[in-house]
Amino acid sequence: MQADQPDSSNIAQPRGEYHTLFSSSDGDVVLGSKDGVLFRVHSYTLKTTSGWFRSMYSLPQRSSSPDQPLETLFVDEDSTTLEGLLRIVCGLGIPKLDSYDVIEPILHAAEKYDMPGPMSVIRALLATPPLLSDPLRLYAVTCRYGWHDEAMMASRETLTLNLHSPEHRPTLQKLGTDALLNLFALHRTRRETLRHRLDDPPFVNDSGDTSCSNCGSIVDYHTWRELKYVVVMEMDGRPLGDTVCNPGLLEWPAARACWSAKCLNCDRMLYDKTLTMRVIHECIDQLPTTIEPLPPPYPTPIIARSATEP
Ligand SMILES: [Zn+2]
Repeated sequence: MQADQPDSSNIAQPRGEYHTLFSSSDGDVVLGSKDGVLFRVHSYTLKTTSGWFRSMYSLPQRSSSPDQPLETLFVDEDSTTLEGLLRIVCGLGIPKLDSYDVIEPILHAAEKYDMPGPMSVIRALLATPPLLSDPLRLYAVTCRYGWHDEAMMASRETLTLNLHSPEHRPTLQKLGTDALLNLFALHRTRRETLRHRLDDPPFVNDSGDTSCSNCGSIVDYHTWRELKYVVVMEMDGRPLGDTVCNPGLLEWPAARACWSAKCLNCDRMLYDKTLTMRVIHECIDQLPTTIEPLPPPYPTPIIARSATEP
């Protein structure tokens, strides 16, 4: 996104107070935040760290004399955002980048002013606990700026969330269509892969009448059918699947009913609890944990020379 080129209406005489970190008298340009705080900086810094300012300074500038007061370029950012941005590009200590309310406006401004430095600093901090603690917003930010490796990491962190929960709707609405579909596909694939796996050996076939392997009498495996349903519903609400193994298979009433079920004729236990729990655990461990990686770039086509070429 390109910011509009500044016009003369943005340039005015200073009216507010200088920010304490940006008040040095040798600065040759004054930026004014939306809330009226002034930042005196070096145009050289802006030109070398921002494509937008580089373009702006390539336009003919008004001539200024040493005894004239500096003009102020007012920008759309508030003083907190402008301070964060300027701290990074001026090589001062970076601000506390520990919430989305702080990083999102800085990223937005850095994108607008074409400043790769602040973007790379924030990108490097995405895996820190304060930002990881809201994985859906992390996913939204990483997708917004095309940081696919970080988006994969964020998608893994969303597996504890129920995407269908109304509280996530505002964040999901900010996602692009591809990002949204990729995330839903990951969550659904985990649930559906496990669901299909529970119909295959060594799990019992509950689709019709089956005979007891010990006495041959007809056995009804409805307790397994009910437990499978509960497992799938749990994966739907929390695709990570950790709660299926514990407490689920240990404590759910449907699980207890399975583990105590017996053949009515010969009293043999119908299900092997240890084996069932182990195989379900292994299956969950093998499910995909992130959105798909980006496809490799297509190789440059090799154009064959024609025989007539030298
Ligand atoms: Zn039996």
